[in-house]
Amino acid sequence: MVFPVSTQTDTTNPFFQLNYEPVLENLGADYYDRVTAAEFPQHLLRFRNDDLLPELGLSPSEVSDTHFIDAFGRFQGNQPCLALRYHGYQFGEYNPYLGDGRGFLYGQVRGRNGELYDFGTKGSGTTPYSRGGDGRLTLKGGVREVLAAEALHRMGVRTSRCLSLIETGQALWRGDEPSPTRSSVMIRFSRSHLRFGTFERLHYLNRADLMRPLLNHVIEQYYPHLQTNPDRYPLFYAELVQRTAELVAQWMAAGFCHAVLNTDNMSITGESFDYGPYAFMNQFNPQFTAAYFDYFGRYSYGNQPSICYWNLEMLQMALSTVIAPADMERGLAQFHDHYQAAYHQQILYKLGFDRLPPGQAKPLLTLTLKFLNDTQASYPTFFSELTQQFSPAWREDPNSMPSRAVCVNTPEQIEFLEQWRKQYRQALLSLPPEEMPQVADRLKRYNPSLVLLRPEIEAVWEAIAQEDNWQPFYDLLQKIRQ
Ligand code: AMP
Ligand code: MG
Repeated sequence: MVFPVSTQTDTTNPFFQLNYEPVLENLGADYYDRVTAAEFPQHLLRFRNDDLLPELGLSPSEVSDTHFIDAFGRFQGNQPCLALRYHGYQFGEYNPYLGDGRGFLYGQVRGRNGELYDFGTKGSGTTPYSRGGDGRLTLKGGVREVLAAEALHRMGVRTSRCLSLIETGQALWRGDEPSPTRSSVMIRFSRSHLRFGTFERLHYLNRADLMRPLLNHVIEQYYPHLQTNPDRYPLFYAELVQRTAELVAQWMAAGFCHAVLNTDNMSITGESFDYGPYAFMNQFNPQFTAAYFDYFGRYSYGNQPSICYWNLEMLQMALSTVIAPADMERGLAQFHDHYQAAYHQQILYKLGFDRLPPGQAKPLLTLTLKFLNDTQASYPTFFSELTQQFSPAWREDPNSMPSRAVCVNTPEQIEFLEQWRKQYRQALLSLPPEEMPQVADRLKRYNPSLVLLRPEIEAVWEAIAQEDNWQPFYDLLQKIRQ
């Protein structure tokens, strides 16, 4: 389907009538460059996230595909397009040549919940920060980010989401995809595109004068409860530490490896975003690495907590002109406790529990993780099988618990499973019988039946690449959201 070229701005387009708040733009031109979007030869709407529209006060029936294309493929609105300036530590090395190289901030709007959101583009053309790149996003890259964000959101991870994905009809050349490959432009809906690297740049350029206004803006919009507190700066850092630790715990429980945890990919709001070579892990393996270019496993699954700690530590340097280093150290010292508490809570949820008596929780968590590690059972399958098989009768009758599991095969594994089931039953017995339906509900809530492993994504992409068949993509999205 090719959409007719509309030459004039359609003022009835609901996206053009949103109440944009130029909050970041008003901070001044030192934080961004004004750019224009590329013109594309084609605009095929491949994904529209109708789930997000109510958040904007819109109903899906009032927003047509053409509205999406005019706003987020042709960029016909009168919004300023701001390529944000930032630096960052990439694989441990400081890089002062970053910035939005293939995207810009298209606009900021307040959600129905009163919070400020960004429309950020990806694949919208070159900017002063493209560094010889083409400013484009491959269609496969767009498809992968849509899927990651929806899957993480379904699992309760605090994440950006994609509002739209439009195929743009250009041939791109990439080293990591069979090329030529198809192009797209995506809209990312996130709490903010300000990164740790946004502050690192100001420090690198010795622009202490720009640090405070930016920090005030961040606190006002994303940490408003701290605004009037005289200690707001150290409290902001301490809360960022906590939010980041909780985010990593959510990734770890989801079995998710982000793969590129450079400080330019770390949000100052503690939200997860920017899904490139990510992967969900199958067999439990702390060394699991998702990016082919991560030769030394710096961003492996198991390293994610310590890497985020390191990223927060680097941020201290940048913020040191505004916040006393000793105060930040005190905030960072809490990282481990925040992480452990959040991770334990997440795994408890995945096991169907809200909380357990202390004598029950720790042994069950330890045994579960040891079981997954030693048997190399599939991490997601273990939890989805538990969810499907769970019966309140387990509490009364241990013989009602199945003695086999798809992901467990050898006699040693079966024996280990027995041991685990005994422990699990003890945990169930520590709850009153009336709570069993809630256990079943939590299992379903935290363990989606569909897990987004690589083969599933590749199969979806093959159908698109070979036959331009998008049905498997839409089917997968529907299953993810169930
Ligand atoms: P990423 O790895 O996607 O977080 O990007 C790291 C940096 O490279 C950012 O500054 C991006 O804007 C830039 N970048 C990535 N891909 C491209 C591209 N195809 N064209 C221009 N800049 C790019
Ligand atoms: Mg990035």
